[in-house]
Amino acid sequence: MEHPKIIQELVEDFIKLPSIGRKTALRLAYSCLHLSSEELKKFSNDLASIKEKIHVCPICHNLYENDVCPICSDQTRDKQTLMVISDSKNIMQFENTNQYFGQYFCLDGLINPSVGNLPSTIGVDKLLKHIKENSFKEIIFSFSPDITGEITTMYITKLLKANKIDVKLSRLAYGIPINSQLEYLDEETLSSSLRQRIQIKTESNQSGSSTFSKEETDEF
Ligand SMILES: [Zn+2]
Repeated sequence: MEHPKIIQELVEDFIKLPSIGRKTALRLAYSCLHLSSEELKKFSNDLASIKEKIHVCPICHNLYENDVCPICSDQTRDKQTLMVISDSKNIMQFENTNQYFGQYFCLDGLINPSVGNLPSTIGVDKLLKHIKENSFKEIIFSFSPDITGEITTMYITKLLKANKIDVKLSRLAYGIPINSQLEYLDEETLSSSLRQRIQIKTESNQSGSSTFSKEETDEF
């Protein structure tokens, strides 16, 4: 005996989403039966309207309801620092830290030819145009610390140099996760943490920053 046809169809819908396998999709499909008719109606209406209600900010390419997103509209934010990310979801993560008050630019993924992600398809040309049209003093690459993040950082770095754009470039430190224990870390993480060790600030060598609420870290 097969599952009812509507369940099979819902399974085919759910497995289109990332991280949802056939078993999970089946569980989700049957779980829908536990929702009230009103809840199911709202669920289907929300799904049907998501594409109409979400827009790409023309400045930073963040996804938001308005035309220009609240971050780009906020005139009190630092206009001289740009953080480049590869997924608009990362913006909220950085915003939730309350440590960063600069601008963002969202690429559509990282350079990875094996899945068809080329500089032109992820929006590197738009990033270059954005940088040329503004006077940023620092660009921070906030990508995942893997090979695609490294390739994308290097590609953009070389592109900026070829275009004679003189700006301070930085990236997130690779290192030890907060609250982890040294004995459980792999050698690559440990050696990266050692290379990017942070000077302990004393009163005599502290300096302020308008973009970060705490002291910037320095490589040395
Ligand atoms: Zn924006």
